[in-house]
Amino acid sequence: MKPIILFSALLFGQLFFTQPQQSESSGEVYVYVCTGSSSKRYHNNTQCRGLQNCKGEIRRVTLSQAKEANRTPCKLCYGN
Ligand SMILES: [Zn+2]
Repeated sequence: MKPIILFSALLFGQLFFTQPQQSESSGEVYVYVCTGSSSKRYHNNTQCRGLQNCKGEIRRVTLSQAKEANRTPCKLCYGN
């Protein structure tokens, strides 16, 4: 086999196997936070009792964003 053919085969293989990956399922977890000033928790659903007396808006953020904002998990949503 001539080297050029081998090279072409390798290149074709690269193109075939390096298709853009879909980032839909990035594994990112979303949580819900209240923007009210007294809210320090994040919740795993909007129906939580802890969100019912929210003074601000209920926003969906990623878990990492919630943690960066020093939020702690809601005891009602996440048990003890
Ligand atoms: Zn909650």
